[in-house]
Amino acid sequence: MEEWQRRWHNGEKGRFTFNIFPDVKTSRCLDNRYLAQATTNHGPTPYYFRKFNLKDCNCRCGEDSEDGVLHYILSCPLLGHLRNSIRPGDSMVQLLQNKRSVLEIKAMLHALYHQQSDIIELDPARVD
Ligand SMILES: [Zn+2]
Repeated sequence: MEEWQRRWHNGEKGRFTFNIFPDVKTSRCLDNRYLAQATTNHGPTPYYFRKFNLKDCNCRCGEDSEDGVLHYILSCPLLGHLRNSIRPGDSMVQLLQNKRSVLEIKAMLHALYHQQSDIIELDPARVD
């Protein structure tokens, strides 16, 4: 456990997740794909698609150039109808401790996954 904690604190990868879970634990279990996406910034977002050279795209709302998972959870107006208790300044740590927020995160990332073409557009400069 001490070695794991030392590596986690001194590592370079997984810093998005580190900022949410700085302490290692064997008892932590995220058993939902959308919560895994929310805590790793891995998922069907323009940020992730660009990072792994899968496709060059942006959120259709045009409000955030990074377009990572926090954009969708905290502020994207295209998912605003699914966001009631979550506010733009909330931290993921706070949100994960609130059952209503967790339900909203799951609903928004479910919608993002199933309605990608309505929410994400290919970068017009890259389309032939
Ligand atoms: Zn957006």
